[in-house]
Amino acid sequence: LPDGCSPKVCIVGSGPAGFYTAQQLIKARQDVEVDIYERLPVPFGLVRFGVAPDHPEVKNVINTFTQTARQSRCSFYGNVDVGTDVSVEELRQAYHAVVLSYGAEGNRTMGVPGEDLAGVHAAKDFVGWYNGLPSCRQLRPDLSSETAVILGQGNVALDVARVLLSPLDILKMTDITQPALEALAESQVRRVLIVGRRGPVQVACTVKEVREMVNLPNARPEMVGADFEGVAEALKDLPRPRKRLTELMLKTALEVPGEKEQQRRSEASHAWGFRFFRSPVEILADPERSRTAGIRLAVNRLEGSGEGARAVLTGEVEDVTCGLVISSIGYKSLPIDPSLPFDSRKAIVLNNMGRVQRAAGLYCSGWLKTGPTGVIATTMNNSFDTARSLVEDMDLGTLDVSVVKPGSQSVAALLEKRGVKPVTFSDWEKIDRVELSRGEAVGKPREKLLTVEEMLQVARS
Ligand code: FAD
Repeated sequence: LPDGCSPKVCIVGSGPAGFYTAQQLIKARQDVEVDIYERLPVPFGLVRFGVAPDHPEVKNVINTFTQTARQSRCSFYGNVDVGTDVSVEELRQAYHAVVLSYGAEGNRTMGVPGEDLAGVHAAKDFVGWYNGLPSCRQLRPDLSSETAVILGQGNVALDVARVLLSPLDILKMTDITQPALEALAESQVRRVLIVGRRGPVQVACTVKEVREMVNLPNARPEMVGADFEGVAEALKDLPRPRKRLTELMLKTALEVPGEKEQQRRSEASHAWGFRFFRSPVEILADPERSRTAGIRLAVNRLEGSGEGARAVLTGEVEDVTCGLVISSIGYKSLPIDPSLPFDSRKAIVLNNMGRVQRAAGLYCSGWLKTGPTGVIATTMNNSFDTARSLVEDMDLGTLDVSVVKPGSQSVAALLEKRGVKPVTFSDWEKIDRVELSRGEAVGKPREKLLTVEEMLQVARS
């Protein structure tokens, strides 16, 4: 290609999907230039705002993302909300290709009466609150009651349970926000029930997260032995990861522990447990109808077996007294532009190997492509696949990169006209330095800035 004609690709969203797509594109083609647009002034998506504060090792992927961002063929434009500040169509005009990697920022709702009561939160918001997501700063969850109920049994549910029950001394050494730390210091929550529609063999969490619960200092497991009927017999037919997970739950629920562990459990002031075969029916209010006082659960039985088993209502219900309900039943992507072919049932952009249907030059990766499941490694693989599809289209000529495209130049002009000032990667590195040094001062790895205003102020200082 002649000089100045390098293929210009724009990526929307700077979570793992955005960065892994960029990394693969830059690696696969020596001429491609990649610009990443991000709504917030800070990068890394759920690695910063989702991953639990006591899982610092998971956040090491940030080092790889930083290497990508520092490459001369990669630019970061934070503080740009695509769909509001600039449209997808305008990006498509400016670039040869646009990759949508903006994740899953909505959440699934339970659809039960009382869901709007004070004391009921989506896990997405609760997690955002303790991780410093600016839009969740005002959440102020009421932690004054003894029992909290979490609906859903995936890893996010276990992250929330762990944060609610962890000793403060452990949390103090993480990058959890100061307001969350202060609220948790006053917390009266002593017991967390993790509720799921189906049984032990169907839980969606992984063994690491259950082990962390089992090993939580000052907390004892509180399981219902009867829930595990027939589970030991089913073990031999389970695939290996599920088998290890089920064995650990079985052991925790049924095995009489050794003396030392018995003593530890009897002295523990906190408790946690799975509640299986239960679906939410209604959030119960206090007499003034002002806040949550409990939850009514329907009792289910299973039809079928294994992962495909279905929960069927028995007609029985059970009430649990609690002041906090956190629903952790899934994240959900949202369409940011009416022109996108969006499957609202699956909440994904309709695509074929990352190629958005009926939209040449438009691609997607990450949770927007697959739905909100899987760990960072899963997101990495599907993002590499999208980058491969894009490179293949360039190589085969199905994506025309011979015409000159203005890229960030024309977008910068549009943004300036609209009064939007992007944050560059070196601006973010200023924020990063401030956060690291504020953290150092209080013995934490990082003290996050909590508002967009403060982030912008530091970025522009
Ligand atoms: P995201 O990480 O959500 O990134 C999307 C980005 O797009 C965000 O930065 C967002 O601000 C930006 N954006 C959104 N809308 C716009 C817009 N209109 N314009 C511009 N930018 C926009 N995985 C693990 O491997 N280990 C863990 O311990 C772990 N813990 C998790 C804990 C929680 C609570 C959650 C929810 C997930 C966890 N995961 C974990 C999974 C992991 O976070 C995901 O696999 C991964 O983040 C998905 O990447 P993504 O880039 O598709 O989405």
